[in-house]
Amino acid sequence: MNIHEYQAKEILRKYGVSVLNGKMVTTPQDAEAAAKELGGGLCVVKAQIHAGGRGKAGGVKLAKTPQEARQYAQDLLGTTLVTHQTGPEGKEVQKIFVEQGCAIAKEFYLGMVLDRATSRVTIMASSEGGVEIEEVAERSPEKILREAVDPAVGVGDFQGRKIAYGLGLPQETVNKAVAFIRALYRAVIETDASLVEINPLVLTQDNDLVALDAKMSFDDNALFRHADIRDMRDLSEENEKEVAASEFDLNYITLDGNIGCMVNGAGLAMATMDIIKH
Ligand code: ADP
Ligand code: MG
Repeated sequence: MNIHEYQAKEILRKYGVSVLNGKMVTTPQDAEAAAKELGGGLCVVKAQIHAGGRGKAGGVKLAKTPQEARQYAQDLLGTTLVTHQTGPEGKEVQKIFVEQGCAIAKEFYLGMVLDRATSRVTIMASSEGGVEIEEVAERSPEKILREAVDPAVGVGDFQGRKIAYGLGLPQETVNKAVAFIRALYRAVIETDASLVEINPLVLTQDNDLVALDAKMSFDDNALFRHADIRDMRDLSEENEKEVAASEFDLNYITLDGNIGCMVNGAGLAMATMDIIKH
């Protein structure tokens, strides 16, 4: 299951991962009020859809005043945002996250993903922040640092330092990076997340670290242990037919055109896909 950025940040905050203050709203009026609540200064109006690439698609706007925040929210709400992750049909913007503005010195990538080959959570980090990690992996794979975490021990301080130095963080930020990574790892383990991506992880002009974007995905089979996370499911972000199928515990995946794939078992699913393609 996927959740929105504002929800992921709510969870991460509980685990001590540093995020900025912000508020989710659904109307332009509330966007203006939220911007005022945040202090009335620079804020960012961010479309909440289950897809990345919003910045490039015009879904992230820097507002200098609460009135500007209201205007941007009005422009975004109800429109369909097409990013390189939504497919050509795009996704309708129904929610907006109004967040404090951040004075960015540099953007990094930090991700944690369950690596099924090693049965461990692998930390991935890159100095190429704000860019798709898949792109970095293809273009310059040497720029991705990886650390596999021993589940019995957790993230070793030495691993946190290796990443911090590998990213070229300033000396005074290294310990903050270690704490950040440990907090993020705890969030992943305790929520049964299968993926968390902080892109960008930002070094501020005061040499602090902040998660400026957050994506989290959870293992559906573990959701029974996390009623609070299960309640974050946003059905309007999901395919209608897949939602209907999930009510009956059916594994149904909608495909292009007028076909879909309904199977039980990963091997059978792959074989079915091969036959369809063939
Ligand atoms: P997406 O990945 O969907 O494009 P992000 O949340 O990563 O959306 O935002 C895109 C870019 O917008 C970031 O790389 C960052 O440069 C900028 N940005 C996002 N949030 C803020 C913020 N609170 N303050 C300043 N800039 C921001
Ligand atoms: Mg991002």
